[in-house]
Amino acid sequence: MTTTVTHDVEAATTAATEAFATYRATTPEQRGAFLEAIATEIESDKDAIIEAAVAESHLPVGRITGEVGRTAGQLRMFADVVRRGDHLGVRIDPAMPDREPLPRADIRQRMIPLGPVAVFGASNFPLAFSTAGGDTASALAAGCPVVVKGHPAHPRTGQLVADAISRALEKSGLPQGTFTFVLGEGFELGQALVRDPRIKAVGFTGSRAGGLALVEAASKREEPIPVYAEMSSINPVVVLPGALAERDTDTFAQAYVGSLTLGAGQFCTNPGLLFLPAGEQGDAFVQAVGHAVAGTTGQPMLTPGIADAYAKGTGMLKGADGVRTVGEGDADGQHAPAALVSEAATLDGVTDEVFGASGVIVRYADVDALSTSLEGLEGQLTATVHYAPADKEAAQQLLPVLELKAGRVLFNGWPTGVEVGHAMVHGGPFPATSDSRSTSVGSLAIERFQRPVAYQDVPADLLPESLRDDNPWGLSRRIDGVLE
Ligand code: NAP
Repeated sequence: MTTTVTHDVEAATTAATEAFATYRATTPEQRGAFLEAIATEIESDKDAIIEAAVAESHLPVGRITGEVGRTAGQLRMFADVVRRGDHLGVRIDPAMPDREPLPRADIRQRMIPLGPVAVFGASNFPLAFSTAGGDTASALAAGCPVVVKGHPAHPRTGQLVADAISRALEKSGLPQGTFTFVLGEGFELGQALVRDPRIKAVGFTGSRAGGLALVEAASKREEPIPVYAEMSSINPVVVLPGALAERDTDTFAQAYVGSLTLGAGQFCTNPGLLFLPAGEQGDAFVQAVGHAVAGTTGQPMLTPGIADAYAKGTGMLKGADGVRTVGEGDADGQHAPAALVSEAATLDGVTDEVFGASGVIVRYADVDALSTSLEGLEGQLTATVHYAPADKEAAQQLLPVLELKAGRVLFNGWPTGVEVGHAMVHGGPFPATSDSRSTSVGSLAIERFQRPVAYQDVPADLLPESLRDDNPWGLSRRIDGVLE
């Protein structure tokens, strides 16, 4: 059993379009069982998948093994959601024939899938955010066939995962066109996919330039379509004075450096900018960060292009006005992690994402100045606050600023590590994403690939199952606005 690997976007989108009618008609049970079958098939081939992903990504075995679990867990979460029918969002406003002055029609609403979705997998999560990752799982859960444009940094891993999905389709009796994996050199393949009129939405994780190019291609189509692109974020961390006074300086600095250098810093949630109070305690923290970074070593990066971009980006940070290096790791044949501090009056030159293990510490004089700096930042995936009870007033002032900037605000932790669940938001205002109204992690991600339809006075025997009076799927539904 092999998956069709094709450079032919035409064949992939034709197959996806043909599969759509059958796939979108699957019952919650059938679709849930299919999503579970993908998880099972990936797990059954996990040794080969792990071996390929480690070789291609240079990420350690432990990390990749964890990603297999995350990928399978994510698929099973979506299977549960689909089985419960949460994604259908059923609302029924029963007819009121006797209402004065005008009778009310019977109106029933449910969400339906948009159609075939193009997914661009991420380089930095070869499993959990690639071929069968969050975008694919949520689009399939919504009822959309998927065409994945494989990431060139892990083609063999992508193919093995695509094979697992193909086996799951066969075992579930679903058309192979429900999922296709395409791979090819250069931008033309991805551009052609986004331009194809049969593609109805796009999921993307990668660079700002790449995401924006796809947004532009999608908006220039005769029928523009949504592009959910996750792009660039520097994930500000705010250390408040009370928290700084309360923490053990060395332990706190090591925790920051641990988050900064995790996975060679190749996380979209890497803490690129840390705001620290001016004063002696802050000075001691900077010094401790310098020591902690000096104890780290460079790790191989995902691709030579990403390594070069890291070297160039870190060089530009170092050259920015008022920036000095407080510590650098041992390069060990790779590129060294680096901690920098900015003493400039502005944030000029230190707010562009540098993908990798370098971060800038910025000192602030008081909460008003801090608030002004935060207001000046672009949109972010995360904003972190280190807080002690003495900081309550400051935190009350900053929270309204941070919630307008970021998709996730977290306290007393580090932004790296994104829980997959129902309440998670991995999104945020531009340029963190191209559409801040959604998330690419967690069960809410399904909503990106659906739209609501209202059925007014449709005869009972023509209504879809989810909208019938006898509620054969046992769904939770809003009747006259009230959840039942
Ligand atoms: P990328 O260069 O944006 O590529 C991602 C995917 O999009 C690849 O499949 C690529 O195809 C395709 N692509 C890029 N530009 C395109 C265009 N103009 N038209 C059509 N397709 C296009 O990202 P990457 O190689 O994964 O990583 C490079 C940088 O992205 C990193 O240094 C980092 O700054 C950023 N990044 C951010 C995140 C995040 O989560 N925010 C995650 C990973 C990477 P081809 O390469 O096959 O042409």
